[in-house]
Amino acid sequence: MSYSEIPPTDDLNGTRAVSPLEDNRTLQEILEANRAYAESFGDKARLTGAPRRRMAILTCMDARMDPARFSGLSEGDAHVIRNAGGRASDDAIRSLVVSCKLMGTTDWFVIHHSGCGMQSYTDEDIRHLLGLDDDHDHAEGTKWHHVKKSSHTASDIHWLTFTDLAQSIVEDVERIRQHPLVPPTVAIYGYIYHIHHGTLEPVAEANRIGAPRTPSPA
Ligand SMILES: [Zn+2]
Repeated sequence: MSYSEIPPTDDLNGTRAVSPLEDNRTLQEILEANRAYAESFGDKARLTGAPRRRMAILTCMDARMDPARFSGLSEGDAHVIRNAGGRASDDAIRSLVVSCKLMGTTDWFVIHHSGCGMQSYTDEDIRHLLGLDDDHDHAEGTKWHHVKKSSHTASDIHWLTFTDLAQSIVEDVERIRQHPLVPPTVAIYGYIYHIHHGTLEPVAEANRIGAPRTPSPA
């Protein structure tokens, strides 16, 4: 994610006038697009759940990134797991283990990106911002225009922010590699996606750690 280009909003408290569903433009646009998509659905009904290209991508939810486009995927090709930062959280690893053990993927890509919002702030910053209960505490000039404060924010959530982009990929590939349920034969690749160029850059150390290994004889 990146919050640097978010337009200002007066929606700082996360509230807005609730309109009837039929007046919700976002909803109507989605449903209209889906109708068009379904009309040309074709033979995709025959796809199986196991990814045809036997691959999975773990990446950030940043709206500027479309893994299907930047890596040439179509429906049925791959698992794509996304969260804030593309981090190897417990839940991301849960999905990867299912991807491999139940669905047969053999190649995993961990892709973080330049300009990621999770690199711009610390966990403490986020806890502080979410704990604010006064609009006046919202610092002028902050990039966090869309902060929706909550007095119920759990302070013990790990927000998985990071300071060094390449190192965050190394750490995540290592965490996945060392997980006891991840087979050593799975190849794990680490890449930086450059948000202003659309290019993928390998992270050598991550790829060294993520290289598949022949299982040792029992
Ligand atoms: Zn991001």
